Amino acid sequence: MDFLDRVAYRLRERYGDEMEKQTVVLPSRRAGLWLTRSLARLTDKPLWSPSLLTVSELFRTFTGLLPADSDTQIFELYNVFRKLFGEEMSFDDFWPWGEVIINDFNDIDLYMADAGKLYSNISDLKEIDAVFGGLTDEQVEIIRGFWKSFNPSTSASEARLRFCSVWQKMAPLYTAFRESMKAKGMAGDGMLCREVAEKALSGQLQVPEGRRWHIVGLNALNNCEKTLFRYLKQMGVAEFYWDDDHFFMDDTEHKASLFIRENRRIFGNAVGKPDTSLHDPPGGLWQIIDAPTDTSQARMVAQLLEDEEITGEDDPTSTAVILADEKLLMPVLGSLPPSVEDVNVTMGHPFRLTSLYSFLKQLMALIRSARKSDGYISFRSDDVLSLLRHQYFRLLAGTEGDIVVREIIKANMIRVNASVLGERFGLKQLFTVPEGGPEIPEHLVAVMENLEEATFTAETDGPSLSVDREYLRMAIHSTVRLANLIRSYSLDIKPDTCLRLLDRVFRKMIVPFSGEPLRGIQVMGVLETRALEFRNIIFLSLNEGIFPRMSYDNTYIPYNIRRAFGLPTVNEHESIYSYYFFRLLRKPARGWFLYNSTSGGLNTGEMSRYLVRMSYSPLFTPRHRTVHINVGRSRLMAESLSREQEHNMILLSRYGKNSEANKFLSPSAVNTWLNCRMRFYYRYVCGMPEEEMLEKEIDQRRFGNIMHEALRRLYSTVKGSADAVKEVSKMAGEREQIRETIIATAMDEMHWDRPELLSGKGVIIIDVLERYARELLLYDSRHSDLRLLHLEEDFTGTFTVASAGARTEVMVGGRADRIDMTDGAVRVVDYKTGAPKRDAITIEGLFDEEKDKRNDAVLQALFYCALIRQIHRGRLVLPTIYWIQQLSSADFTPYTRAPGLEGPEALYEEWKTIMSDFQMHLELTLNKIFADNEDFTMTSFRRRCACCPYRTLCRR
Ligand code: SF4
Repeated sequence: MDFLDRVAYRLRERYGDEMEKQTVVLPSRRAGLWLTRSLARLTDKPLWSPSLLTVSELFRTFTGLLPADSDTQIFELYNVFRKLFGEEMSFDDFWPWGEVIINDFNDIDLYMADAGKLYSNISDLKEIDAVFGGLTDEQVEIIRGFWKSFNPSTSASEARLRFCSVWQKMAPLYTAFRESMKAKGMAGDGMLCREVAEKALSGQLQVPEGRRWHIVGLNALNNCEKTLFRYLKQMGVAEFYWDDDHFFMDDTEHKASLFIRENRRIFGNAVGKPDTSLHDPPGGLWQIIDAPTDTSQARMVAQLLEDEEITGEDDPTSTAVILADEKLLMPVLGSLPPSVEDVNVTMGHPFRLTSLYSFLKQLMALIRSARKSDGYISFRSDDVLSLLRHQYFRLLAGTEGDIVVREIIKANMIRVNASVLGERFGLKQLFTVPEGGPEIPEHLVAVMENLEEATFTAETDGPSLSVDREYLRMAIHSTVRLANLIRSYSLDIKPDTCLRLLDRVFRKMIVPFSGEPLRGIQVMGVLETRALEFRNIIFLSLNEGIFPRMSYDNTYIPYNIRRAFGLPTVNEHESIYSYYFFRLLRKPARGWFLYNSTSGGLNTGEMSRYLVRMSYSPLFTPRHRTVHINVGRSRLMAESLSREQEHNMILLSRYGKNSEANKFLSPSAVNTWLNCRMRFYYRYVCGMPEEEMLEKEIDQRRFGNIMHEALRRLYSTVKGSADAVKEVSKMAGEREQIRETIIATAMDEMHWDRPELLSGKGVIIIDVLERYARELLLYDSRHSDLRLLHLEEDFTGTFTVASAGARTEVMVGGRADRIDMTDGAVRVVDYKTGAPKRDAITIEGLFDEEKDKRNDAVLQALFYCALIRQIHRGRLVLPTIYWIQQLSSADFTPYTRAPGLEGPEALYEEWKTIMSDFQMHLELTLNKIFADNEDFTMTSFRRRCACCPYRTLCRR
């Protein structure tokens, strides 16, 4: 029989006729519901239900003090602190400190410690006996040991002095804080319990007549609880039911039994002996499963439920999915199989993991980044983009946000004007910036209220947004509460402080999920399992560090002092966790215990100490199992994609002669094909643009663009001139003009104003560009003759290819940097700002897809040579690469090391041969590009994937 069934049986047996006079105190509301169910099953007649309370609710029934939440307590504590010690600390600095102090004060109260003694500063060890009269010898010895090793008068390190300075403020702060709270009729949890317990100790606690209390299923008790329970016991109005029918009760060393033994000794056990022999060993089939990731743990839940045909339909006590790490709630719910129709979730979901939190964070980042100049407010474009891309912004502004995102990126804006955004979206309020800190919470509330309204509008044709509304209401409630606290304590909080406070409040929030607990698979946190039992349990995140938790709440009270004054330490926490875990093993027929075996971040990858204990205990003999991730390439794209007719139809509709699109296949497209056919497919068949990013710095691509355009602007004055060399030489000496041309070009390219461009690294980049431009002008000025024919002009041509079962003409072409003439030769000049490639080339090598280091630049220049050679019949038309970084070196040559291309002195016949060779290979390649049977394959040179914009598609 389950523990709660046995409690229900005893209650029914003894108090069946006066159930309405009974108050049952349980560890959780869920346990109360289950007890009611057990009671209902014992009779088919109508029956009064007993009153059901949790322990905190029990204490509240004995006092008129109102419970205060931790934020209110911190504000009050700061108020008291200022009165006692002046304004030595800002509220911002005080908050984290205040959180720790409130926790410590709470522990002191719950364990009824003497704060005056606890916070004494014992510099003279002889004083110890006098100060700590009333403590046991062992406690005094622990305190003596601590102060002896700590004493700052013997070793005054800065940390010790700081500790002492904080320590000596604590006792007066504790007393004044309690008085202040009490005067306002409020109390924190600990203070409220202590108030009740002290009344009980002094015999002044009024207990309603005729009522009986039943304390059910608790484990570790603090001193306030013990005091109250003892009082009720002495008055003969309380009975105690401890869940002690467990194998570990036979083992005095087992940590799980620590508190139950003590409770049983003090209060006795009214639950009676179980119907089976006492402390049967657990009889389930156990599996310990190590999973490589958190996601695979969540998926494993679905697989187990399916494989074991568990649907949760039979009995709500049949199956529990227990999450030691609340982070896994959403992944688990998201991967439940369709066979599971009813799920009951009772656990908290951290608000910090919701999308609403990320939206609020982005909104707060926007406020932080606001800058006022010339009467205008502007935001950092990064913050604007993050906000505009958020799903909640879509709720407010539809798809207009996407359009504005593209515009901001295209214009490469560094800051975005607030009023422009407000008008564009009709959301002026969202883009206004509150004047001071205290106004910020109201601003956020107004935005959240708009969002809430938008959820109703969006729902007319979309999915239910009721969960989002729950999040919103909770966040609005907490924000309004913070605003009220700031106002009522008249704190002049700076905007930054207020944003930090809001963030802390949001990060602490837990969204409570509670459903109909008597149906379906039960998904719950560990605390929710108290007093309940299940036939199947699936327990997730049983990792050392998570269960038991390694980081306990911060405290200023050193470990030894905590021990001496009976405050809980890590040892007590461990016993509590041990009880939570091992008590769950009494009933199950099957149990699966999962942990994440990959170390990373805070996770050590080790299984919890309780699983280790299970593994080595003859009582359990669990099976061990490993979940493997299927590493087969489940890619979006296969390594090779077969050519379909449809692909060629698309290509011809773009590049076919007389096609509507009227586009030209550029030399870059040919290079792309030769470097990676798959990349060609994405770019030129699918037409996927390479993602444009907001650039906050002048990267290599932008550097090249500025260089090309600045040179075009500089050389445009000498284009066509017969005296170009002289003019170029003069220009090379006009440093200011070169610099100004570069600055103007860079401002246009980056869409930045002059101060923005010339701040930080920008000025260094402009210096480099200026030097390169001068070196190029000087280099050109050394030519004996030079005539500039074309600057940044388009050249096109046609080629005939076999495609889609017919021969068809396709358009090729592109924009050449510059075409000039010198020493009787025409040159296709390509400016290159990257690292020079000086290898000798062969035409075959230029088109060899299997060659790792092809020379794209020469192929591109030769491509234009092939297009214009007909215009310059009888002349050499030479590919000429200006490797800008190399221009000043003595042995630099812009020509290609290949017979026929080595400069104006090259032999015409050799040039003709190499050009017809090039033409032939180009035709062959174009034919492949348009062929019916050439597949799109991924490159075998993975190095090329590193900077490819499509690598997420290829998963490379
Ligand atoms: S990621 Fe690699 S294989 Fe894929 S398209 Fe880019 S270069 Fe080709």
